[in-house]
Amino acid sequence: MYDVNSKCADDFINHEEILETLAYADENKENIELIDSIIEKAKKRKGLTHREASVLLACPIEEKNQEIYKLAEQIKKDFYGNRIVMFAPLYLSNYCINGCTYCPYHAKNKHIPRKQLSQEDIRREVIALQDMGHKRLALEAGEDPVRNTMDYYLKSIETIYSIKHKNGAIRRVNINIAATTVDNYRLLKEAGIGTYILFQETYHKESYLELHPTGPKHDYNYHTEAMDRAMEGGIDDVGLGVLFGLDKYRYEFAGLLMHAEHLEAAFGVGPHTISVPRLKHADDINPEDFDNGIDDDTFAKIVACIRIAVPYTGMIISTRENQKTRERVLHLGISQISGGSRTSVGGYCEPEPEDEKSEQFDVSDNRTLDEVVRWLMEMDYIPSFCTACYREGRTGDRFMSLCKSGQIQNCCHPNALMTLKEYLMDYASPETKAIGDKLIDREVLNVPNEKARAVVLENLRLIEQDNRR
Ligand code: SAM
Repeated sequence: MYDVNSKCADDFINHEEILETLAYADENKENIELIDSIIEKAKKRKGLTHREASVLLACPIEEKNQEIYKLAEQIKKDFYGNRIVMFAPLYLSNYCINGCTYCPYHAKNKHIPRKQLSQEDIRREVIALQDMGHKRLALEAGEDPVRNTMDYYLKSIETIYSIKHKNGAIRRVNINIAATTVDNYRLLKEAGIGTYILFQETYHKESYLELHPTGPKHDYNYHTEAMDRAMEGGIDDVGLGVLFGLDKYRYEFAGLLMHAEHLEAAFGVGPHTISVPRLKHADDINPEDFDNGIDDDTFAKIVACIRIAVPYTGMIISTRENQKTRERVLHLGISQISGGSRTSVGGYCEPEPEDEKSEQFDVSDNRTLDEVVRWLMEMDYIPSFCTACYREGRTGDRFMSLCKSGQIQNCCHPNALMTLKEYLMDYASPETKAIGDKLIDREVLNVPNEKARAVVLENLRLIEQDNRR
């Protein structure tokens, strides 16, 4: 039975409700009156239900789709301005005891070299990341309770936060690791993580069980209820995502929004972020073996529909996507992107020899962080290295209420400009710095309050003189 408040995954991601939603969306996908009323509701920027958003996703009418894209772009601007938050993944370990059929880490893959970073390796990787200019990391690891223990993660987080190197310091560590217990989530919170990220992979329970035939991840309910446990353990920023390509995208879309609705109903705070990974080629994995790949147009439509359905949720795109796709979806709702990423364990310090690849998937955007930052600024985006919300405790519902009321922009815009200035001074190539300085000169005029503008200008001047507060 569908029950948004229930703590049981079978109730809040209810299969029958998804099937009914898809049937309703099919019946109404050309119902112009209904579609117009849903678009009007979306314009109020309070979000849409999974049923309403599913109708828009199914709609084939070109004119209406253009309205959806335009609205997604406007909502993105209203909530996030032209800022794009930068981050990098850091792969800690690819040891894994699960049998996920789409992932090269699966336990039966005997030819992928297995590695786990020591604390000393982590130091070296983090210094390499700091030398690029990164301030925000997403830790990644396979599931191996013997090797990748909670103690190992806690120690790794402590190591990362402790590394001070030149002007660098990692100020926010997010983590994407297997579903765990309330007690462990509490420990992660105490260790100072930002967002706990866990991709659902697929919301279709039957497919899930087939795609995860062995290992602890086989337990669909334990995996799907992980965010509830994370919130019970005090983590208020959680990141959802499905791996598009595993099952039918319209099913996944409805499930994803139902998950967001459940978190909002049960805890008063929806997901902090939603990621939209697509299945990629990897060692031992051929995406063509899976039937549900989606084309670029469908992918763009999914991003736009998520944007208007959950306007206050950050959206993340990784280097699984190439430059062209990233550019397209940035306009439609993405607010965070990775840059200069390596998806192999230890890859920031030592590029791997061709015959010893341990990457998690093939990267489609191989540009350096400097190139990604320049590219963003050439499109008039402000790459932001800001982590102020997190440091000042504006997480979870405090962040959401600020974001929902649009207020977050009053502090985010100036902070983005100041952290960009620091990046330009410390790490950028001369060409990138020249473009960035011009962008900052233009953007500082958009700080609405005159007093605040004067403060920002003074801070920018001090950073330019290498005199930081
Ligand atoms: N062990 C954690 C878990 O169980 O969720 C984290 C997993 S992994 C390091 C991060 C994500 O990579 C997975 O959740 C999955 O969605 C994605 N992934 C796995 N194989 C992939 C592939 N072939 N292409 C693209 N993404 C993939």
